[in-house]
Amino acid sequence: MIENIISKNCIDAVEQLISGNERFVILSHKNPDGDALGSSLALYHYLKSRGKNAAVVLPNAFPDFLAWLPGVKNVLLYDKDTDRAKELIGLADAFFCLDFNALNRIGDVSEEVAKSSAPKLLVDHHLYPSDEFAVEISFPEACSTSELVYRLIENLSSDAAVSFDMAQCIYTGMMTDTGAFAYASSRKDIFLIVAALLDKGIDKDKIYRRVFYSSSFTRMKLQGYVMYRKLKVYNKYNAALITLDHSELQRFYAVKGDTEGLVNQPLQIKGIRFSCFFREEIPGKINVSLRSVDDFPCNEVAAEFFNGGGHKNASGGELHCTMDEAVLLFAKAMAKYKNLLTE
Ligand code: 5GP
Ligand code: MN
Repeated sequence: MIENIISKNCIDAVEQLISGNERFVILSHKNPDGDALGSSLALYHYLKSRGKNAAVVLPNAFPDFLAWLPGVKNVLLYDKDTDRAKELIGLADAFFCLDFNALNRIGDVSEEVAKSSAPKLLVDHHLYPSDEFAVEISFPEACSTSELVYRLIENLSSDAAVSFDMAQCIYTGMMTDTGAFAYASSRKDIFLIVAALLDKGIDKDKIYRRVFYSSSFTRMKLQGYVMYRKLKVYNKYNAALITLDHSELQRFYAVKGDTEGLVNQPLQIKGIRFSCFFREEIPGKINVSLRSVDDFPCNEVAAEFFNGGGHKNASGGELHCTMDEAVLLFAKAMAKYKNLLTE
């Protein structure tokens, strides 16, 4: 049996909002990943199955390796389909906020959402949700928001309401947020949910290949280049750093998603507990990804040094400076956290 974690009060509140309204907009975070898109589309299919008018609005594009997800063609990207997205946001009776914990994580979309008085429902697994939500389904111990969407649907209706399409989306989110169940996935319920999704007929091996075995040749070369030339190990701090500046990304024709997963790789080195990746996707702007093992809190490092946040073992942020300045900042962060890194 899957343990019930969402309170009856929450479920009742969500049910009231769904049954009493018609138009829903599902929102997720900037640079959407498999969990952002998977959880959003699963909920989209569910609301549709209940005869509701639903739309998914994301701030910007998702990686190509997610483009096969059922329903993806109907997703609106705010930076491209701005007018249509604004119209739908304006008409929404309620918002579902998925896989982020504060409205500033959805970029410009938040300005449009702020104009609406429609209630916002949070379904998320990041720490420290803000107080902007009318209903809060926030469980940092969940492996993914997709796990929570499965639970939500099961609680609102039943497992029978989970369609094959919903199952594919949910599985993709659970798989991508756990590195194919390599981390953040030791709870038994995760596998009970996976078993329930397999019962819907999903082919988990095929989903794995679609997501992880879809590299271009240039992406493989970029990975080789990074491992050979760009990975720095700081043994004194049990930490590692990868940097890719704008010209390097261009040299390898890097497209969205090509650098996904790179930040995890240094953790394969024995003794490394903290990994950092700086990538200059736009000249002058550096995207930061942080990963750690055990109790090292990269969300605290992200908040203190990199204008970001996230989970204890997976966080991110952004910097507006040169790569050299970013590297200096990383050195400062390592020095500050030396005790925790080496204990
Ligand atoms: P990634 O390295 O995959 O971009 O992000 C890892 C995790 O950190 C994700 O769970 C994401 O939600 C969170 N994250 C990434 N960037 C930011 C940021 O700028 N602010 C906050 N608060 N969290 C972030
Ligand atoms: Mn997530």
